[in-house]
Amino acid sequence: MSVGSGLKGSFPLTKESIDKEVKFISAGVFALGVLSDDGKFQMLYVGRSDTDVRRVLKTFIGKANRFKFELFDDPEMAFKKECEIFHFMKPKANKVHPMRPVSQEWSCPECGAR
Ligand SMILES: [Zn+2]
Repeated sequence: MSVGSGLKGSFPLTKESIDKEVKFISAGVFALGVLSDDGKFQMLYVGRSDTDVRRVLKTFIGKANRFKFELFDDPEMAFKKECEIFHFMKPKANKVHPMRPVSQEWSCPECGAR
């Protein structure tokens, strides 16, 4: 039972662990973070990929210790989840609102940003 972001994990942010946990090439949302002294996941950053969350996660190896993720068939669902986490968890490394691809008409379910 995960409380908070609703993402799976957390898992170590290593190549082996990413390959093991993220089984498909898919759109998805991920969170990066560290474990606090009492073993709780502290989210630092939320991001998404519209095509391959596994590949994007690997670009962050070394920048955080742990990751969480969720795959989505529909990139728009991934965008909406990313927005939700951005607004509710306020990860401190996220300086700007999640961006949609310029070719899409998606808007944020929380603030309506497009
Ligand atoms: Zn928003």
